[in-house]
Amino acid sequence: MNIILLGPPGAGKGTQASFLVEERGMVQLSTGDMLRAAKDSGSEMGKVVADVMAHGGLVTDEIVIGLIREQLETVKANGFIFDGFPRTLAQADALNGLLTEQGENLDAVIELEVDDNVLVERIVGRAADAAAAGQPVRADDNAESMKVRLMEYYKKTSPLLGYYYAKGQLSRVDGLGSMEQVKADIAAVLNG
Ligand code: AMP
Repeated sequence: MNIILLGPPGAGKGTQASFLVEERGMVQLSTGDMLRAAKDSGSEMGKVVADVMAHGGLVTDEIVIGLIREQLETVKANGFIFDGFPRTLAQADALNGLLTEQGENLDAVIELEVDDNVLVERIVGRAADAAAAGQPVRADDNAESMKVRLMEYYKKTSPLLGYYYAKGQLSRVDGLGSMEQVKADIAAVLNG
């Protein structure tokens, strides 16, 4: 089973993806994690994306589609969770093509719905918690870049909700519940 977790930054996609990895042995494909790893490794691509990421913009479709292609061609999994990808219609179309090439289907697209005010609080809180625990703070977890990330989400990613709805693939889950509740709601969708 292959699924997409869709929702604005801070909606809890990464947290829920990690639960699915633990419990269902699925493989999480987070383009954000891949890009942060590229940045930390100091590779040429990492240097190109670092600035865009720090400011909350989207890196090019070409780069992220390339990252996903590489994973789909090399990793064999009992289901993929796409976390933070696709973020544009071009990426969504590319994903369809890549899955078809691999003989795979897209089984569900789950939107985590969260109130915008809560998102900003969560992101700024995530940075404060990390700092208090002496952990590294994401360069883009601050109020300024959060505004850009939200704007990018509404301009470029939210059209995917209509796109997947029209394809009959969209399910909505209330992302404001407790982690356990959200997890149960996602399980209900997947166990359908
Ligand atoms: P995330 O961890 O998913 O919040 O992603 C962190 C940052 O990485 C985003 O703000 C973008 O700059 C970049 N990024 C991650 N995934 C994508 C994507 N699918 N398309 C474009 N940029 C992305």
